[in-house]
Amino acid sequence: MKGEKHMNKELRKAVIAGNWKMNKTPDEAKELIEGIKPLVKGAGCGVVVCVPYVDLAAVLEAAKGTSIGVGAENCHWANSGAFTGEVSAPMLTSMGVQYVIIGHSERRTYFGETDETVNKRIRAALDAGLNVILCVGESLAQREQGVTGELVAMQTKIALGGVSKEELKRIIIAYEPIWAIGTGKTATAQQAGEVCGIIRSVVAGLYGKDAADAFTVQYGGSMNAKNAADLLAQPDVDGGLIGGASLKPADFAEIVKAASK
Ligand code: PEP
Repeated sequence: MKGEKHMNKELRKAVIAGNWKMNKTPDEAKELIEGIKPLVKGAGCGVVVCVPYVDLAAVLEAAKGTSIGVGAENCHWANSGAFTGEVSAPMLTSMGVQYVIIGHSERRTYFGETDETVNKRIRAALDAGLNVILCVGESLAQREQGVTGELVAMQTKIALGGVSKEELKRIIIAYEPIWAIGTGKTATAQQAGEVCGIIRSVVAGLYGKDAADAFTVQYGGSMNAKNAADLLAQPDVDGGLIGGASLKPADFAEIVKAASK
């Protein structure tokens, strides 16, 4: 599957989202968000931080009055019930949470997440009023087998099953090659741009060109203060999902600056 370049970048919102993963106690989270706040004030792009459940209250409180969006890193597909250890989408919105990451490769790899459960979680998140950052991406073996395009297209199509064109406006897709996450090994700008282009083509096939032109596609995988500008210069890369570098305020702010229009 070949990528194509979609040139209408000015039609869509650039969003930089941090994924704090399983890091920071509530006190540490407060310190981190307080460090980020002044550095991203007046940013020319959307800024989101996705944090552990136990940090949400502290980060929501600290982010009040700023334009920083706050997100969780997962949610369950049921609204309530016998699912020990899980957190539902309505629980998140009841706190004021606006975003949720769904289908991160760490969830798929370590916690048995499948394209089908990703789709169910997206349904629940949308029904509760959340914005979704959906993660898709291939392993190194899959890239070497030459199936990246087909795989990412399939992940995207299954995840978006039952999502309306109106609801699509509350979804961002992050292309995250698994081999680049937390490894320091970034995809080249060309590789990132190509797969983000494939994702946009899939969205165009499902929802039409206008919806695809307005749709935000992020790259994620060892994006940092040094390589961000190069990656974000690609026509189809509209932002980033940032792991490690989102824990360092100066580095995160540098990436936000690179994405600001
Ligand atoms: C991520 O967790 O989504 C991620 C991209 O991590 P890192 O930036 O550390 O590779």
